[in-house]
Amino acid sequence: MTYPISLELTGRRVVVVGAGAVALRRARGLLDAGADVHVVAPDVAPEMERLPVTVTRRSYVEGDLAGAWLAQACTDDPAVNAAVVAEAEALRIPCVRADSAGEGSARTPAVARSGPVTIAVTAGDPVVSGQIGRAVSSLLDTGDLPVRPGRRSGVGSVALVGGGPGDPELITVRGRRLLAAADVIVTDRLGPRGLLGAFDAEVIDVGKTPYRHGTTQPEINEILVSRALAGQTVVRLKGGDPFVFGRGGEEVAACVAAGVPVQVVPGVTSAVAAPAAAGIPLTHRGVAADFTVVSAHLDERSASTVDWAALAAGSSTLVVLMAMGRLKQISETLIAHGRAAHTPAAVVQNATLPGQRSVVTTLACLAEDVAAAGLKPPAVVVIGEVVRLADDPGAQPPPLS
Ligand code: SAH
Repeated sequence: MTYPISLELTGRRVVVVGAGAVALRRARGLLDAGADVHVVAPDVAPEMERLPVTVTRRSYVEGDLAGAWLAQACTDDPAVNAAVVAEAEALRIPCVRADSAGEGSARTPAVARSGPVTIAVTAGDPVVSGQIGRAVSSLLDTGDLPVRPGRRSGVGSVALVGGGPGDPELITVRGRRLLAAADVIVTDRLGPRGLLGAFDAEVIDVGKTPYRHGTTQPEINEILVSRALAGQTVVRLKGGDPFVFGRGGEEVAACVAAGVPVQVVPGVTSAVAAPAAAGIPLTHRGVAADFTVVSAHLDERSASTVDWAALAAGSSTLVVLMAMGRLKQISETLIAHGRAAHTPAAVVQNATLPGQRSVVTTLACLAEDVAAAGLKPPAVVVIGEVVRLADDPGAQPPPLS
């Protein structure tokens, strides 16, 4: 059994004997660690010459290891490697022997990294070590191996994580990793709530429903800031993307004003995910070259801040969020301003979730057909010729002219 240790090699002399593929790999790893690398070999490949190493172009001779903190015997000649090991032994310098690891006094573990974490594995068999290292780093990347920082002092942090439209698989790798490291998760009603059980953080539900306002925005800001100031690692889990009708900007501002470190992790917005889940491409060559995402939400004066007349005029695909209470007004306004009454329209409810349902109709019949089908929020409305493609996923764009 060996004794694992991490060496601080910044600026320290390391001698690599040999200049083949193994030596090159070792030299690169040592340079990454900041070591002062000296290579001894009669023939040196151009790749090695391009590295910032000091090359002595001759065969190894006893004495080459003087002053080294670590030696690497990497030639393809076992006798030379044995001589390097013998000198290192005499000088009490740790030495890795590439062709016969058991004979050197040091071993190089397989190394994998995940964010700030370095994973070093020695399993006897280097292939097995590599596999274990990669498996652990991928578990850390995805948050499947939940790790929370140990003892901390001072201010914590806030991460606004876009959770995607709802399917737990549609969150980013970084979002999942941050959830796994969180002390507290402040969550919305929308987004991947199915994920929450996988982590042992405290969960605070500040979800708003369309007709019942729960926690107010200032209260949410206060929760984020006070928890972070108390030293906690806070994840604010939001549906879709934090900066798409998510009031993420206000939460960031509150954190900045309070001196709390804050980061934003983008998410897959329902504006894009819901049409995709229903087989509707937002753009399609020859059909639509742009799309516009708007909210049907009204401001404090019950006014819409959207220029519906301008939207009606174009042929852009329209994606409308928070629209379920206003379908009739939306279609009437668009038709009044010139969109054809027979323009295809679709509503996708609970996109990417088990309760996903959609209705495909026309602008004129939108409100009536959605009511008849009993669709409820959350839902995304898509208006435009691309909706036709939902019925015909095999449709090909017209040939290039
Ligand atoms: N930040 C979110 C949007 C928040 S506004 C995002 O980027 O997706 C809330 C609106 O999002 C809902 O009214 C609905 O229009 C839409 N929405 C969110 N999740 C949805 C889902 N799974 N299916 C359909 N619509 C959804």
